[in-house]
Parts: sequence; structure tokens; C-alpha cells
Amino acid sequence: MAKGKINVAVENIFPLIKRFLYSDHEIFLRELISNATDATLKLKHLASIGEFKGDVDNLQLEVKIDKEGKKLHIIDQGIGMSQDEVKKYINDIAFSGAEEFLEKFKDEKNDSGIIGHFGLGFYSAFMVAKEVEILTKSFKEEEAGAHWICDGSPEYSLKKADKKERGTEIILHIDDDSLEFLEESRINELLNKYNKFMPVPIKFGTKEIADPDHEPKTITDKDGKETKEAQKMITVDRIINNPNPAWTKQPSDLSDEEYKSFYRELYPMQFEEPLFHIHLNVDYPFNLTGILYFPKLTTNIDVQKDKIQLYQNQVFVTDNVEGIVPDFLQMLRGVIDSPDIPLNVSRSYLQADGAVKKISSYITKKVADKLSSLFKNDREGYEKKWNDIKIVIEYGMLSEPKFFEKAQKFALFPTTKDEYFTFEEFQEKTKAAQTDKDGNLIMLYANDKEAQHGFIEEAEAKGYEVLLLDSPIISHLIQKLESEGEKVKFARVDADPIDKLIQKEDAQISKLTDADQEKLKGYIEEIVPKEKYSVQLEAMDSKSNPFIITQPEFMRRMKEMQQTGGG
Ligand code: ADP
Ligand code: MG
Repeated sequence: MAKGKINVAVENIFPLIKRFLYSDHEIFLRELISNATDATLKLKHLASIGEFKGDVDNLQLEVKIDKEGKKLHIIDQGIGMSQDEVKKYINDIAFSGAEEFLEKFKDEKNDSGIIGHFGLGFYSAFMVAKEVEILTKSFKEEEAGAHWICDGSPEYSLKKADKKERGTEIILHIDDDSLEFLEESRINELLNKYNKFMPVPIKFGTKEIADPDHEPKTITDKDGKETKEAQKMITVDRIINNPNPAWTKQPSDLSDEEYKSFYRELYPMQFEEPLFHIHLNVDYPFNLTGILYFPKLTTNIDVQKDKIQLYQNQVFVTDNVEGIVPDFLQMLRGVIDSPDIPLNVSRSYLQADGAVKKISSYITKKVADKLSSLFKNDREGYEKKWNDIKIVIEYGMLSEPKFFEKAQKFALFPTTKDEYFTFEEFQEKTKAAQTDKDGNLIMLYANDKEAQHGFIEEAEAKGYEVLLLDSPIISHLIQKLESEGEKVKFARVDADPIDKLIQKEDAQISKLTDADQEKLKGYIEEIVPKEKYSVQLEAMDSKSNPFIITQPEFMRRMKEMQQTGGG
């Protein structure tokens, strides 16, 4: 039996680990399961290159609670460690990670954002355990098993163990202030959060299922009465994860139904089906896989819940993808998995990181490409989805210049008659009939079909097309389109009188005499606030409007932009 002292500058590291990691204790389980997974995958790799001869087909991990003994066990059938390897990997290497961490954050306040992503590894076990044991046996037959115990002081003991089965068992003697981790429901919750898609099956308890090999017989007694035999139940391992989630597969191997069922797997409480998906898959100049879904945003505007999840090699990291996924795409759902996203750094650093920038523009490009192909290949289907996806697209057009460029080709402008045009198509359609005296194309629009019904009817009666633009950010987008486009002006139907806006040869302002007009105007102005509305009398072509009251475009737009912020 060997005794040793872990070589570390800080006299007692564990109280420090506890203190600094306080807000994120739960990640210990993710770390230990990651190690167990690594050890299993390493063994599989050795088998694939012929360096390990045994069977590696059904390797799995197990998490076990021993409530009475106040212990939590994490067991794997991976490569295991010899005594020397325990010394090297646990005492030296694993500890250097912990030490480095403390060096870096000794003077910082408790910042859970950073800490959760640090990946302290093995030593995070001491956040919840007062003593940790490692029982391990290497895949190399000639090596004896090893038993390492450390009680939270820098002293450890390491001795030979007569462990027979290959692999490693980590035993945590749970501390009294962490007893929650002996609750089945709590462990279930953690496994479901962090390990749901890890690549090696994880057993947690057992469950009863109907025996698939037993077909209950129907028995007929002597009176001809039929009874069915009871279904035989059997006990099987309860595997908590799906080791082969959809995003790790090739798009060509997945049906539409499989994409949808993966969506349900990701968001079990989400009953609405996604509109469509985008499969991400790139390995140069960075590694990234994933599936993004466009949810129906009109009925589900709770973007705080069910967010995009970030994984690293199938281990859940966070659902805060700020800085990695452009803002306007954070309304989407799904998964991205990349080993190339640095996690142990602050968000502001992330935004400046070159690889992360590339990832963000790659995602933007893929989304634009997908929208563009939906538009080209199935315009009718795309038009039907427009109402649900427009917010994302319009927001993207405002915030990402590259996306704006691409979206010019697939952003739609519906009319009050439920027809859909691209910006270019609409210009083409209306330019002959809807220009002002300076040759600007006047794009008439409404944002509330009910409220502006009279104005719409009036414009239509005059033979004009009216767009129906009702997004909350539309005034910003209009501003942008006007500044980008040549000779285009938007005017809401209840702004200035149409006949004043649009040049018409035979324009006739009113059938009333000038004196009558002034008189009528005076009456109306007594009722409506002058500073907000302007009263204009116009020759009405429709039957239902005797006259109109308008609010000048610029006045209203200024107000709207103040309300929605930015400019
Ligand atoms: P990391 O996983 O980043 O290498 P850790 O502190 O988590 O750092 O683990 C340190 C090392 O200990 C691992 O690299 C590995 O060599 C060894 N190790 C930890 N857990 C196991 C295990 N279950 N089976 C085999 N080796 C392990
Ligand atoms: Mg690790």
C-alpha cells in the first residue's frame, strides 16, 4: 500500500473547490460520466485497431445510488487504469487541472457562467463528496487492480485491489450538505439534462416491460368462455440516453418523420410540430454538427423556454448560445454540437473569437440557403409558412447585412388580397401605376386590416395594390428598404391622401367647392386632434367613405420607432 501527498501548492484544495464552484455543483456528474464515456470509447478504439481482443459490442455505464451507505457509484467497463496510471492521471494530471483553475479564479467572485464551463474534470467530485474512491482495473490483463481513496485532504492512499472486472468504479461518499444527490429524482433530472444524448448507453435502475418473447395465449374453458393469459413481465436495464441522436447521422439517412421525432425527444413538452429543419454538418475550418428547427412562432412566443442547446461531443453544455448563434436565430430551436467552441471563457471573449465568428456566419448562411431553397422549390408551401417565419427573417434583415442581401430574394410582401411578392416582384408589378411626381415608387401598405379597412378599400377602388405588413419591427425594415432601394417610398394607407401621393393625370381632389371644403374641414378639426392627424378631403372612389382623416407617415413612423427602439 502506498501513501502519498498530492503535489499542490494550496494546502487544502477541497474547501476551495467547494467555495469557488458553489453555484454549479451539479456538473460533477456530467464530468464523471464524461470520463467514463471517454474510457469506454478508448477501449472501443483499441479494439478497432486490434490492440484489444475482447468483446466491445455491449459496453455500458451505470449510475447507482446507495442511499443507506450515502454513496453514489459511477461504473464503466472501459480501459481502466493500473496503479501507475492512477498516480499519473489522477494525482498529477487531474490535479493540475484543478490547480490551474484555482490559480485563475482565486481572486474572482463566484461567477457561475465561467465555472460551469471550465470542465474541472475528476476533481469536481469533491464539490459533493467528502471522500472519493476509485476502484479500477486496466484492460491489460497483467495489471493488478487499484484502489485509490482520498478524503478531501491532499493526502491519498493507493493500494492494490482484487477487482476482477475490467473498468473503473468511482464511489462518492456524499457530503451531508449534498444529500440531494442521493435522490433518484435529482439524479434522473441531471442525467436527463446533461447525458441524454451521450454516445455510450447509461443504465440507471431497472424497469418492468412486457416480455417480447411471450405472446399471452387465449384459453377457452369447458363452457366456451375465453380468457386471456396474463402478460409476462420481465425486468430490464433502464437506459436513460439515446446514444445515437439524429444530429450525429447523415441527412440522407433520416426521414422527415425522424427529424420530427427527434424534435419531440429534445422538447418533450412541446406539442406543436416544427415548420422545417436545417441539418448542419461541417468539418472544415471548424467542426460542427447539429439540427436547427423553425418553430411556429406565432403560437409559441415563449423563447425563454426550449432554447437551442449547445453540446460538445454529445455532452450537454448550455442552452445559452448568445455570441455563438446570431441573435435573430436564437428564436429557433434545436441542437448544435461543436468541440471547437471555447467554453471556459467569458461571453465577450467569445464574440471576438475567430472560430466562433466563423461558426456564427456559417449558421447564418445555412439558414439563408435553406430558406432560399424552400422558396425556390416549393413557393406555395413557403408562402403558407411566411406568417410564422417572418419575424426571424425580418429581424435578420435588420441585424445582419449579409443576411439582408440574401433575404432580398426570399423575403415576402403579402398584399391585402393575400398574394405574396418579393420586393422586386412587387416593384415590377406596381411601378407603372404607383409613382409620385418625382418618379418614386409609392408602396402603399396597411398594418391592420380591420382598423384600416376603409383606407384599404379606397386604395383598392382606385386600382392600387396595398401591402399588409404587420410585424412589430416593420417600421425599421421599411426605413432600411427605403434607404437601400432606389426611388422607393412606403406610405401607410391612412397617411397622406393617396391622390396627393400618387401622380395621376386626371387627379380630381374633391367634388366639393373650395368654400365647402374649408367649412367641412373646420368641423372635423374640432373633433380630431390637429397635432396628430391631418384632415384632407379627397375624391372618394369607393362608396363607403365620404372623407378620410390621415396621420402623416413621418409623424407616425417616428413614434413607432421610439416605441420599438433602435433605428
Ligand atoms: P480530462 O478528462 O479532461 O482528461 P479529468 O480530470 O476528468 O480530466 O481526468 C483526468 C484523467 O484521469 C483522464 O484523462 C483519464 O486518463 C483518467 N480517468 C478519469 N476517469 C477515468 C475512468 N473512468 N477510466 C479511466 N481513466 C479515467
Ligand atoms: Mg474529464
